[in-house]
Amino acid sequence: MYIPNKKIEDAKDITDTPLVERRIESTKKYSQSLFDVPIWNGTMDSAIDWMVHCAKINKSTKVGFVNANNLNIAYKNTALKIHYRSCDRVFADGMGVNLASKIAWPKDQAIKSNINGTDLFPILCDALEREGQGIYLLGASKGVARRVAVNLNQTNPDLKVCGYHDGYLNDELTNHRLIKDINRSGASVLLVAMGTPIQETWLDENGSQLRIPVKISVGGLFDFYSNRVPRAPQWFRNLGSEWIWRLAMEPKRMWKRYLLGNPLFMLRVGKEALSKSFTRSSRILNFNISFSRFVNEMLKIVLGIIASTTGLIMLSPVLIIIAFCIVFESNGGPL
Ligand code: UDP
Repeated sequence: MYIPNKKIEDAKDITDTPLVERRIESTKKYSQSLFDVPIWNGTMDSAIDWMVHCAKINKSTKVGFVNANNLNIAYKNTALKIHYRSCDRVFADGMGVNLASKIAWPKDQAIKSNINGTDLFPILCDALEREGQGIYLLGASKGVARRVAVNLNQTNPDLKVCGYHDGYLNDELTNHRLIKDINRSGASVLLVAMGTPIQETWLDENGSQLRIPVKISVGGLFDFYSNRVPRAPQWFRNLGSEWIWRLAMEPKRMWKRYLLGNPLFMLRVGKEALSKSFTRSSRILNFNISFSRFVNEMLKIVLGIIASTTGLIMLSPVLIIIAFCIVFESNGGPL
């Protein structure tokens, strides 16, 4: 059960600092990052305390979650990377990020706890209900957000669900009406559940028009809380294998994400870990070369060796004939 903390972690410095400074500070403060995305490292309870606090004091706040898939997208998508860097906090979601932090970060700074949107949602709803704050649900296909609102009415009868809308915003007018509806709703927390990177792009494009303080990109969680897609049983989740369940539930949509995406993510994390340790050693040894230049130089040497060996093998019949000619034509050896 959610118990609000008296001391709200980091709330004062976060809320009292101007926006730009706060962004720089949050990058500095949660200094560890993956693929240039700074990741906050704290507990679920303190994350919820902070969000509820920001909602109560009407403080403009942007929150994101990153799992292996989101980070794989951000690796190539600069706009998404910038989005995450502009968030007040980015939470570590899932075993992949957890493992990556153990590989790429100093031991004592590895991710403490997994803060995924799906587990956070019911606890956040309890807290908002207790504090009298309203919520707006945006995302998923038609009828899904409404179903979540109906279910919330059962589980949290006193929670103010101030509005909901599906996440397929195909024309300007619908989007314009939606923003008006959100601004009039009186909600202080907006959950945007359109999947990555659509939800982040939508927030980047429309955030300046939104008057709702706390904006959280949560991914596909409405599908679970509307009972459209069953969630893995708790024991399965405890094993850190929810992705296997999701793959089994939606193989057509998920196979690329998990079967190709997970190994690719680990490769990229390995490269980042190597790059970081290279930078550390080069600082200690005091030589001045970037990791990518080092890799390029090494690749050039390896490719050179492969090319010359292949060339030698291919030319060897000609070289042998020339050697015999030299032996027969002159008295000396071919070398
Ligand atoms: N979705 C949406 N608008 C779109 C595309 C997708 O609202 O234009 C919804 C989709 O119905 C689903 C969610 O976004 O509910 C995507 O879920 P996914 O599991 O891919 O998101 P993730 O949590 O992995 O980012």
